[in-house]
Amino acid sequence: MKSVIHKLKYPCRNSLYIMREDLLPFSFGGNKVRIALEFFRDMKAKGRGCIIGYGSARSNLVRAIANLAGMFLPEGRVHIVSPSEADGSRPHTFNRTIAGICGAKFTYCTRENVAETVEGVMRRCEAEGLKPYYVNGDKYGRGNEAVPVCAYYRAYHEIAGWQEETGIKFQHIFLPVGTGMTIAGLIAGKHELCGEENITGISIARPELSAVESACRYLAAFGEINVDELDITGKYLRGGYGLYDEEVLNTIKIMLRLNGIPLDPTYTGKAFTGMCSYIEEHDISGKNILFIHTGGTPLFFDSIIDIT
Ligand SMILES: *Cc1c(COP(=O)(O)O)cnc(C)c1O
Repeated sequence: MKSVIHKLKYPCRNSLYIMREDLLPFSFGGNKVRIALEFFRDMKAKGRGCIIGYGSARSNLVRAIANLAGMFLPEGRVHIVSPSEADGSRPHTFNRTIAGICGAKFTYCTRENVAETVEGVMRRCEAEGLKPYYVNGDKYGRGNEAVPVCAYYRAYHEIAGWQEETGIKFQHIFLPVGTGMTIAGLIAGKHELCGEENITGISIARPELSAVESACRYLAAFGEINVDELDITGKYLRGGYGLYDEEVLNTIKIMLRLNGIPLDPTYTGKAFTGMCSYIEEHDISGKNILFIHTGGTPLFFDSIIDIT
């Protein structure tokens, strides 16, 4: 899969570019398409024939996994363990609907009984004679960190190739950070190719320390890379996962009007807004800056009513 990088029209004292991961040609795109493909590759290599994913109603990863399973696995071979929101609710979302259409079987859990629920689903698969592949590793969600990191390790090579071809050098790369699988991959790629860009992650879910810790875990699983290279800020969190304000909605409006590009309030819209503040606060000007649009287009449609 290859992505498009192009210049962006946006008021900012720098040349802004955007990497359109949202346009990857499968299942509405996004970083989770690349990551889900890595999981499928690994599952096949390990001879397993039944995939178990984990994610909330808003999860883009769940949608991408379910869609790939719909294409490549017989029916009944994709299970999703899904926690409720922090307030206990289960919102209707486009991602959840698409995953259902693709044949995903949902097993609900709370934030407290994830491990037991995952274990139960694995046992059920085994009882059917299937060899389950849980994307996060063991029932506690550990042990498979290196696999998703490959996705943006490879994508970094694309970014480096683009710079080589065009002669345009990025001084700074920004992206939203959740678990940190994506930024860990970029850092691993940069490390290998001795890249010189600053890569800054805007945490959209966790306080800074916890976001760095999570990303470190992914990076450490991938290879011996100095974790000091991880730069993640928790300054633009706006209260936590899924929370946003007028400023974020305003960014989404401007981006849509000026570029015809959808951002969502949970990931890309929040991170893009954070990036603009970061650029102001650090007095960055006259640079070539790349924003990675990590996708989440179904979430744009979930939120469009709030935006109007
Ligand atoms: C999951 C996701 C992220 C965060 O990626 P991590 O690798 O978890 O840090 C960012 N943007 C979108 C649209 C996502 O779905």
